[in-house]
Amino acid sequence: MKTETKCVHKGSYIDPKTGGVNTPIFTSSAFEYLGRNDQAYPRYFNTLNQDTVIEKVVALEGAEAGVLFGSGMAAISTSILTFIEPGDHLAVQAEIYGGSYSFVTEHLMPQGYDCTFTSTSAEAVIEACTERTKLIYIETPTNPLLSVVDIRKVSEFAKARGIVTLIDNTFASPILQNPYALGIDVVLHSGTKYLGGHSDLSCGIAVSSTANADKIRHKAKLVGGCLNAQDCYLLERSLKTLALRVERQSANAMEIATWLDASDAIANVYYPGLPTSPYHALAKSQMNDFGAMLSFELKSQPASDFMDRLKFIRPTLSLGGVESLICAPATTSHLYLTQEERDKLGISDKLLRLSVGIEHTDDLIADIKQAL
Ligand SMILES: *Cc1c(COP(=O)(O)O)cnc(C)c1O
Repeated sequence: MKTETKCVHKGSYIDPKTGGVNTPIFTSSAFEYLGRNDQAYPRYFNTLNQDTVIEKVVALEGAEAGVLFGSGMAAISTSILTFIEPGDHLAVQAEIYGGSYSFVTEHLMPQGYDCTFTSTSAEAVIEACTERTKLIYIETPTNPLLSVVDIRKVSEFAKARGIVTLIDNTFASPILQNPYALGIDVVLHSGTKYLGGHSDLSCGIAVSSTANADKIRHKAKLVGGCLNAQDCYLLERSLKTLALRVERQSANAMEIATWLDASDAIANVYYPGLPTSPYHALAKSQMNDFGAMLSFELKSQPASDFMDRLKFIRPTLSLGGVESLICAPATTSHLYLTQEERDKLGISDKLLRLSVGIEHTDDLIADIKQAL
């Protein structure tokens, strides 16, 4: 099956009683177990509604198996804890989602995990590894500056050294980037973003080989964090249009980035789709398209004034929905950093991060133009 067909059909359960084309929502948390091979239970991560969604995402990522969670952070934290013990060394890209960064600094490091934060490149991650390194954690494209890391380079090095690799693939979605095929062990998503796509549910997923998914599921049974049947259904419904949404959103983003790049009011545009981006060639080599996230720096006006004037592009924290969403990273995702840390990462007070939706680009550009 091709991607669009997988989105619609993979994993679907046809109810034999009615022949309905949609998977029914099985609300039970208690299931009979006598005479059955598996004991189904929501926190065993093996109910029919969970399996349906997992099968679809696993097919889209080209992996073998997966575990579905109640949030992206549940998927990320559980997966990290699956592969390391206190005392182990891990190499973590510093430019990652704020919640993942805080999980490392506020949970792992105080518990005695030995972590090295690296700058944003495959070379930097590789250089940070020692004899004791058990895990590498990367994210690409990154939040909020859309830097791109060479996935093949990281995975080839890690495989040769027996180091487990985890990637946060949220920004690209399975439509644009499939790191499992490029040799990454565990691919993570905040399904709250593109997979859900309508800003109305919270979930996360980890996909990998069957052996690694079994390990993650075992840890997940201990710490919990499962998703309920109703939200599994919402997610299944959303995934059917994932390819259409992401393709349109990416095309819109390319058009807006090009427009911003030509505008006198904008100092910088960060988008790997622009031929002038230092990441353009690398992104092209490992992504199907450049995605729908972009950032830009205003020349003079404060970010908050600009956002106040926007008519329908909404200042919000999340991303990946059908509606365009904007935020100023310095006062949201990166607020917890010191000014010095923000300067070092290149996150200025005039930086805005735009999650491009499926609206018409004429309207989106008109809204940005009048706000400028
Ligand atoms: C939102 C997000 C997360 C965390 O996901 P939640 O569903 O909010 O727990 C992780 N990584 C990235 C890149 C995100 O955007």
